[in-house]
Amino acid sequence: MNKKIIIIGGGLTGLAAGCYARMNGFETEIYESHNRAGGLCTAWKRGEYTFDGCIHWLTGSGPGRGPGQAFYKFWNELGALKKRKIYDPDCFYRYMTKDGRLISFYSDADRLRQHWTETSPEDAKVIREFCSYIKKTAKMKMPMEKPFELFKFWDIVKIIITMLPYGKLFKQLTTQSIAEFASKFKDPGLRDALENIVFNKNVQLMAAVMTLSTLHSKSGGFPIGGSLEFAKAIESRYLSLGGKIHFRSPVEKILVENDMAVGIRLEGGQEIKGDYIISAADMHATLYKFLDGKYTEPIHNTLFNHTQTYNTCIQVSLGINMTFGEKEDCVGLHYPVKVPFSIGENPVTYFGFRTYSMDPTMAPQGKTSAVALYMTDDFDYWEKLHKDKESYRSEKSRILDMTLKNLECYYPGISDKVEVTDVSTPMTYMRYTQNWRGNFMSWVGTPGNHEELQRIGKMLPGLQNFYMAGMWVMPPGGVPTAAKTGRDAIQLICAKEKIRFQTTKDM
Ligand SMILES: Cc1cc2nc3c(=O)[nH]c(=O)nc-3n(C[C@H](O)[C@H](O)[C@H](O)COP(=O)(O)OP(=O)(O)OC[C@H]3O[C@@H](n4cnc5c(N)ncnc54)[C@H](O)[C@@H]3O)c2cc1C
Repeated sequence: MNKKIIIIGGGLTGLAAGCYARMNGFETEIYESHNRAGGLCTAWKRGEYTFDGCIHWLTGSGPGRGPGQAFYKFWNELGALKKRKIYDPDCFYRYMTKDGRLISFYSDADRLRQHWTETSPEDAKVIREFCSYIKKTAKMKMPMEKPFELFKFWDIVKIIITMLPYGKLFKQLTTQSIAEFASKFKDPGLRDALENIVFNKNVQLMAAVMTLSTLHSKSGGFPIGGSLEFAKAIESRYLSLGGKIHFRSPVEKILVENDMAVGIRLEGGQEIKGDYIISAADMHATLYKFLDGKYTEPIHNTLFNHTQTYNTCIQVSLGINMTFGEKEDCVGLHYPVKVPFSIGENPVTYFGFRTYSMDPTMAPQGKTSAVALYMTDDFDYWEKLHKDKESYRSEKSRILDMTLKNLECYYPGISDKVEVTDVSTPMTYMRYTQNWRGNFMSWVGTPGNHEELQRIGKMLPGLQNFYMAGMWVMPPGGVPTAAKTGRDAIQLICAKEKIRFQTTKDM
């Protein structure tokens, strides 16, 4: 009989692991606490509108020439891009400076250079340097085919040879943070715009450059149909490969006998045995709840106690009975707050605004689905508030109100056109996915902790037949990491079973 792999969590990571497990002949069962698959990669319907809760850019949406290429292959193996149209934005993000100037992040690096140089001629040299990073990175192929745990001598030699031309570039992008590089700009507007592009200015410059390089090579677009349809395509692939998924099945414990993972116990008490266990659920819960903290390493304590994460957010979703005309050419906008307000103790200075006009499935013709996003690291505030349902509800409605007041400053009359609203908070993410402190990405990779983050293991010393996958083992996370780490886990199991890892094409 084929060996059985039990997968905890039916987010993208769990689904990817399930697909690759089936491609390699394993019996698989996914246990998912929610009533649908996809985890954070989701969307929800309110009236005529669909509100998307995840993908802003999909690394590997097209073949590209560089970092996206490997992921394009993975998404095709997983059936995620089958018959899927991709929207490649001309302008990915537009930032309004405090003095009202618009700074655009065009996907094409040459157009970006021209526009930024016109904006700030005195920064021409730094702009040229930045755009050359984007163009060079767009050609950089990353070694993604195997988990590093399986690298042999010749793999390392091959990687050194492939990466040799990029050695200097790699150093430039990993040893300085976005904020450090941005400080070279004389124009404070350019500085602020760059610092805000990936939610955290302390991350390595690589994060910003990598994102822009996938856009430049048309490998970082938006999948039409949205995040939930994207996840559903992988779920269908998994089911068509013969995988099983159990919904409303929250896992409480991983069963261990003689330091070997042998099964799981669900919250209802039911025990299920398997030959291998993969946790594609939250790492904090995996280590400290499912395994009672028995197999943690010092690095886990350092990460959870001292390392900054990307944090969490508040999403105000709006169904609006209007289109945005020429303002639609850029899907992501970043506006200064004009009507001041605070969330918890923190004054809000900027907010993100994203329209989904490019996707006809999100709203009826002539109408627009849009979201305003506020990043926050104050999970405690929301956790406390959530204990009193009335205060929680009224805080959500206050934030909605302030969002509309601020949007009025940029789109006069918009409030009267809003037909449907919805507010999700850090507690929504927590409830929906049980991710630690409502996080939707994992640790922030700074120039200082780069090596430490590479040491996060997918296996735990002393525990046999157990693997971890997902955003926590490959920071900072994101949907590409889900495909990669789900795939890695099955490659590691295949290696243990002495089976040659194989993938099948989705026909
Ligand atoms: C607003 C927002 C924007 C984003 N934008 C992007 C983007 O543009 N590009 C990008 O690449 N990424 C983006 N991300 C991040 C991306 O969504 C995640 O990093 C990725 O989807 C994580 O997938 P995962 O499967 O590892 O984890 P999750 O999606 O968290 O899945 C874990 C699953 O495990 C289940 N689970 C948890 N505990 C248990 C239990 N005890 N028993 C059973 N099941 C359990 C959960 O219900 C969930 O389904 C964004 C996320 C958000 C919220």
